[in-house]
This record gives sequence, structure tokens and C-alpha cells, in this order.
Amino acid sequence: MLRVLETLGEHPIQLSVGLAGLLALLGLGFAVLRLLPRSARAAAEAAELRESEARLRASEARFRQLADATFEGLVIHRDGIVIDANTAMAAIVGWPQELLIGRNLFDLCATSSHDQLRAQLAALGRGEAPAIGDPPIEINLRHADGSAIPVEIHARTMPFENGDARVVAVRDIRERKAAEQRILHMAHHDALTSLPNRNLFRDRLGQAMERAKRGGNTVAVLCLDLDRFKPVNDLLGPEIADELLRQVALRLTESIRADDTVARLGADEFALIQVGLSHPDGPAVMADRLVKAIAEPFCICGHHIVIGTSIGIALYPSDGISGDELVRAADTALHRAKTSGGGTFRFFESEMDLRLQERRHLERDLRQALMTEQLELHYQPLVDCDQLTVLGCEALLRWRHPERGPISPADFIPLAEECGLIMQLGAWVLRTACREAAGWPDDKIVAINLSPIQFRQSDLAEQILAILAETGLAPNRLELEITEGVLIEDTERTLATLTILKKAGIHISLDDFGTGFSSLSYLQRFPFDKIKIDRSFIWAMEKNPDSMSIVRAVIALGRSLRITVTAEGVETSTQLAWLQNEDCDQAQGYLLGKPMPRADIAKLWAMPPQRAQTELPLSPAKAAE
Ligand code: C2E
Ligand code: CA
Ligand code: CA
Repeated sequence: MLRVLETLGEHPIQLSVGLAGLLALLGLGFAVLRLLPRSARAAAEAAELRESEARLRASEARFRQLADATFEGLVIHRDGIVIDANTAMAAIVGWPQELLIGRNLFDLCATSSHDQLRAQLAALGRGEAPAIGDPPIEINLRHADGSAIPVEIHARTMPFENGDARVVAVRDIRERKAAEQRILHMAHHDALTSLPNRNLFRDRLGQAMERAKRGGNTVAVLCLDLDRFKPVNDLLGPEIADELLRQVALRLTESIRADDTVARLGADEFALIQVGLSHPDGPAVMADRLVKAIAEPFCICGHHIVIGTSIGIALYPSDGISGDELVRAADTALHRAKTSGGGTFRFFESEMDLRLQERRHLERDLRQALMTEQLELHYQPLVDCDQLTVLGCEALLRWRHPERGPISPADFIPLAEECGLIMQLGAWVLRTACREAAGWPDDKIVAINLSPIQFRQSDLAEQILAILAETGLAPNRLELEITEGVLIEDTERTLATLTILKKAGIHISLDDFGTGFSSLSYLQRFPFDKIKIDRSFIWAMEKNPDSMSIVRAVIALGRSLRITVTAEGVETSTQLAWLQNEDCDQAQGYLLGKPMPRADIAKLWAMPPQRAQTELPLSPAKAAE
């Protein structure tokens, strides 16, 4: 064996390279040996013959060793019956080499390849052998243990014992097939959860709709979005969040039937295709089951995690007849489920679609508004509670829509946040308000609202400082109003941005205080200059003693932390008098001045403080009466 290898080169792999040549030699070796005549001739001749036979045997042994040394299986057959095979072939099919001889090729082939084999043999019978160099054929062999072995075969005809035979070189391609499978899997599955990805989801949805069309039945698409996933990612880190997603995937998979598909479409977005719906309540029952399954606590690395899911449902064919339409409809319904508090599901309704269209038009118009000066800032006075002097103003954005008239920022700011326009819008507000405020008296401040989304810009602090430099407004005349929402998102980066701004001398206010979940914890995380008590508390104060005690407590808290407290939405003199009595620092509200256009602000400055006081609908003294 070694000798054979030596003569052929150091690398056994080379043996399989010149397979066609090798097969020719091999065939010749087998053939000559078996065709050798045997007769009782003269002794001398007999001796010579024995010698030549011995040489041939040695030669056969060498060729057999050579054949066995190849990594490929070799089979010689005639009319489908095996005449000879090497050890590699025996290993591939798991049979002892000697048991292969005399077998029918059909015994060695997986049933799935029988038709292919039959066609091959029939073509051979008609003398239509494939030419050398033809692309190899892929078939499945049957292993002794019953499993299918994918192989690639090359075959050629050669003379062998009184006639032609076929020599077939068999290459085991299990590894290659497995790699192909893996690549195919990767192209169609999400790496984290192994669930089908968006591509496969789209294919399956297409197939499901096609089948439903033929059968005249319904398919449901359920779009899922996890509730409270982001805080898990932010607070517990990506590893825990990834494990959470894997466990969610598992729960979803366990909640569906084998015919249904669950896919992961994005970070914490999943989607489901429900087929074979026999009852109209099917999707609702399924959605309810999924909501409950995800609401169960997860335990990951010792963390007890409670999240939830919101689900939107769309039906084929009533809500859409293409995959895209269905997913869009389910997404619209999902949006509705989210806005109604999460942990629930909603079916798509065509009226939602109208809203969606309206939103799209509004988004288009808002882009236009940024370019065509339909936006302006109004300013609402911030007043010192005690003296009732105007300390400055809060800039509030106004949109005069050419057809619809004025649109409230409460309506269009969330839209701008969703479509990313808030970055441009926010920058415009900052630049405009700072420029205008730079023209006010030196002691008047301007308060500007910042959206949490604006904090996603890593250069927000630089942008603001550049605007101050450009407009010449002193940093200590700028107050930035942020809500708790800012502190929930990417806390590290946000705190870094706020710290730079504060160090530059800019004041930071916590707006809408009391409307979030855990206001007090945010006060510890960042040294705010001001707290603005949300107007809902001021409004409820007169009727609800609880609100009154909350306002009182916040004023006391501000005093102990040396943070200025502003009461928002002061509308009545009773409210103002009470706030003055509680030593609240500042107030803002319709009583003290409504938001006004830029042109009117100058009048406010022009007024002496006493006059401003008498201008108020009710003076504190009068209110106290
Ligand atoms: P906000 O920051 O809490 O602003 C105060 C809101 O309360 C303003 O509503 C103001 O007009 C209203 N308001 C003031 N005093 C009273 C009162 O006595 N009674 C009542 N009922 N309301 C009063 P507006 O201008 O509609 O703004 C709504 C919200 O839109 C603002 O709430 C703020 O969150 C957002 N917003 C406004 N302008 C901007 C902006 O330039 N950027 C960002 N990101 N958000 C803005
Ligand atoms: Ca504000
Ligand atoms: Ca506010």
C-alpha cells in the first residue's frame, strides 16, 4: 500500500484527482486478470504462466490497493448488477465489501432515487451513455442502517470481462449538503432564535394565501411587538435581552399549531401566520393565548422579568390580498393595541387605515411645513409667583396648516418623533427661539422643549452650544425642558449630554413632573435646576385633596433639594393664591399669560412690572379675599 502511495506521490488526495485515468487502469487490471485463460499445456509454459499469473495477482492486488486508497467509492456494474466495489464504497453504504458483489443497484439506492436510476439504466440500454465530462449526477444511496446518503456520481463505460461494464465513481457529499443546508437555513432564519426570518415569512404567507384562495378560506396574520422590552435591554444588558428573545420565541412556538408559522421580523417584533381557520374566533383565541403566554414572568440568570406583548391581527382576504397589504394592516392594528396600553390585541378595521393614510399625508405636509415657513413659535410667560414679574418665556411650537388651520403640537410632535422629523424640527426650534430670545432684555430667559428622540443624536450638546455661539444667547438664559422619557432612553448617553450642557451653564428642567412612573428616582440621577409640576395636578387641586398634597409635597421636595419649582397650567386666582401661600417659586398658565406670537412679547417687556401685575385677571390679594 505504502509503495503504491509513494509511487503516486505523497498526498493520497492526489489519487482521486485523475479519476478517469485511474478507472481505465483499474478496469484493465480487473479485466486482464479475470480473462486469463487456464489450460494444461507444457510444464514450461505452465511455469511461465504461473509466474505471469503471480505477476498479475500482484498487479491486481496493487490496483485493488490503489482503488481502496481512493476516497471515492468505486462500483463496477453491468445492467445494474454489481461486479466489484472498493472499500470506500463499502464504507459509504455501510455494507461489507464482499456483500456488495452481485447486488442489484436498486438495493443500494434510496427509493427516492429509483426513478433516476431506472432512467439511467434505460438510457444505457439504448446506448446513450453520458459523455465523460458531463456534469455529475446527484442521487441518494441507501445506507445499511436505512438512512439516505447523498452522493455525486460520475460513470463511464469500459471493457470488462467479455463485454462492457460501467464504472461508477461515487463521492460522498454529506458534508457539502449539510453546509448547503446551513447556508439555506441562515438565509431564511433568524440567527438568534432560529425562527423563520422576514424572507421565509413572506414566502410562507404567499403560499398560505395561495392555498386559501383555492380553498376559499381565511388566513390570519398576527403582528406582535413586545411591551417593556427596551428597559430590559437598557437595564439588564444585551445578553439577558437576547436570552429573553429566545425564550419568547420558544413560548410562541409552543403556542401555535404545526401548520402555523411564527417568524421574527425585527428586534422585538414577531409575526404569525395562522392557517386552516375553521372558526371565526380562531385568531382572537390564538392572540389571547399568546398575550397570556408572554405575560407570564420569565426567569433569566436569576432575574425575574415581566414583559408583555401587543398584537395586531389582519385577515386574508378581507383586510388585504397581498402579503404587504396584510402585514401593513396587522401593523396598523398593532399600533392601536399599543396605544391602548399594550398587553392586548386588536383586529384591523378599515377606519384605522383611513387614519393611517391621514397620518401619512400629515407627515408629508409637515416636511413641507419645515421648508415653507408654516411653523412659528409662540411664547408663554414664566412668572415669579411672589412678585408676579415675568422671568422669561417658554417657546411653544405652532403649525398653521394652509388648509387645516392651526394644528396642536400635541398632535404633530408625536408624528414628527415617529418619522424622525423631530431632529430637524427640534433644531429649527432651538435656533429660532435662541435667536429671538437674544433680542430680549438680558435678564429674560427662554425655555425650550426637547424631545427624547433628539437625545439619540450623539452630538446634541455640541449642536446646542453651537447655536448659542451663533445666536449670541448667554447659556444661563437658556432652560431646556425635558420629560422623564428622556431619562428612560439610553441613560448613560443622555446623562453625559445633560452634564455637558449643565457644565456650560444651561439650566435643565424636568417637565410634566408627576406624569411618569418613578419621578423621584430621576431627581436623584441628575441635578435638575427646575421641576415643572404637571398641569393635571394644578387643575385637580381644587377638587381633589390628594392632588393638593402632591403639589405641596413637590414644592417641599424642591425646597429641600434647592430646585426651583414651577406650577404649570395655573388658570384661576384661587390656584395662584394657594401656590403663593405654599411658597411655590414660579407659575405659568392662562391666568398669567397665554402663549403669544413673537410680536406681542415686546409689549410684555415694555410694561413695567407693576403694570404687568395689574394686567393679570386677578391679583393674588384679590384671589385671597
Ligand atoms: P408643555 O411643554 O407641557 O407645554 C405647556 C402646554 O400647556 C402648552 O400646550 C401650553 O399652551 C399649555 N398651557 C399653558 N398654560 C395652560 C393653562 O393654563 N391651561 C391649559 N389647559 N393649558 C395651558 P401646547 O402649546 O399645546 O403644547 C403642548 C405640548 O407640545 C407641550 O407641552 C410640549 O410637550 C409639546 N411642545 C410644544 N412645543 C414644542 C417644541 O418646540 N418641541 C417639543 N419637543 N415639544 C413641544
Ligand atoms: Ca414644557
Ligand atoms: Ca409641561
